[in-house]
Amino acid sequence: MTKQKGFTTTLLHADRLRKPEFGALHQPIHTAVTWGFDDVQGLVDVFQNKAKGFAYSRQGNPTTAALESKVTMMEGGLASVSFATGMAAIMATVFALVKEGSHIIASSYLFGNTRSILQTFTEIGLDISFVDATSVDNIKAAYRDNTCMVMVETIANPATQIADLENIGEFCAEKGMIYVVDNTMTSPYIFQPVTVKASLVINSLTKYIGGHGNALGGSVTDTGLYDWANYPGIAPIIREQIKPEMQGITQIRKRGLRDGGGTLAPEAAHSLSVGAETLALRLERACGNAGALAAYLNGHPLVDKVYYPGLTSHPQHERAKKLFRFNGGLMSFALKDGVDVFAFLNHLQVVIKSSNLGDTRTLAIPVAQTIFFELGPDKRAEMGIPEGMIRLSVGIEDREDLLEDFKQAFDAVSQ
Ligand SMILES: *Cc1c(COP(=O)(O)O)cnc(C)c1O
Repeated sequence: MTKQKGFTTTLLHADRLRKPEFGALHQPIHTAVTWGFDDVQGLVDVFQNKAKGFAYSRQGNPTTAALESKVTMMEGGLASVSFATGMAAIMATVFALVKEGSHIIASSYLFGNTRSILQTFTEIGLDISFVDATSVDNIKAAYRDNTCMVMVETIANPATQIADLENIGEFCAEKGMIYVVDNTMTSPYIFQPVTVKASLVINSLTKYIGGHGNALGGSVTDTGLYDWANYPGIAPIIREQIKPEMQGITQIRKRGLRDGGGTLAPEAAHSLSVGAETLALRLERACGNAGALAAYLNGHPLVDKVYYPGLTSHPQHERAKKLFRFNGGLMSFALKDGVDVFAFLNHLQVVIKSSNLGDTRTLAIPVAQTIFFELGPDKRAEMGIPEGMIRLSVGIEDREDLLEDFKQAFDAVSQ
């Protein structure tokens, strides 16, 4: 009847349209762990998937459900499940769907903890190949008859490589593989993985979607494109009871969330949900700031190299231009040999030395000494991580204050 509303308008009205009590504009924070039924049949029906409702909060609650429906709208998907963290979402997705004897292909540039959990999965028998996902050719070379899943990120952290998202999507569709895209670094405002045929989209809600560094959370969204009816890993009881398009996400909710227990707290869900309302505004500002900083750093005599998809020198610049609304808020840069990285960082006053990303505040971290410390110098060199690399998650501060802060820090270390 009415035209589909825009990204932000849709988010702002999403809670109200669920008709919370007293006409509340926000979905309330439901802290109840369990729900009572006047007639026991009602309880039984919820347990047997015959009626919608809530039985026990570990596998769902009205507050987390409202957030899940917002994530689904943002991603243009079919349904979502929320988790306590992004890592819990990733863990649950693999754990719930992948069967013994299956093979997974993953990007070798995955977020450090994702790489680590996948490594741990190999120790209990999963077979995982890590390949450079910036070209589909490497995925094709690693493909086997038992490959069931491909996992990539949109923009890698810290060196900002962009996966060959479209071609990998085509290849996964052709081979019937589950295509998992971690959209954390772009967020659904910059890019919707459904447009490149992703099957499942992961978001760390902790980052851009929540946006304020005040709550942890994660989600998995089923785009509706994968044919679960032909996936051998669906449990018989889910096969019997659930319509085919909902079988994958239901298995993630039951085996990943209910059994795994990485449930998002309702208080955190509320913070993330309110944060999401300003995602578009924040990203427009943060990405604008990031572009200005990248241009400034790129020309600076003390800077050796800048890693940012918005620069024409970036190896996947054209891909970013084609697929993404903006080039993101994250960049890295390497200082020239001989410039003291710690002294430079310590001179920054507006920019905070901190490890998070996607915050409203600009955060900087020396990469080799922190998030890539455990790898050691040889592995870092192999992965193209210079010892003097600084990762920057650009926030929404006033642009002049950020530029001024960098200028004075460079001045201080060049004296
Ligand atoms: C931070 C991050 C995660 C993990 O999310 P948490 O909410 O911190 O558990 C996963 N993937 C990417 C790309 C991330 O940046």
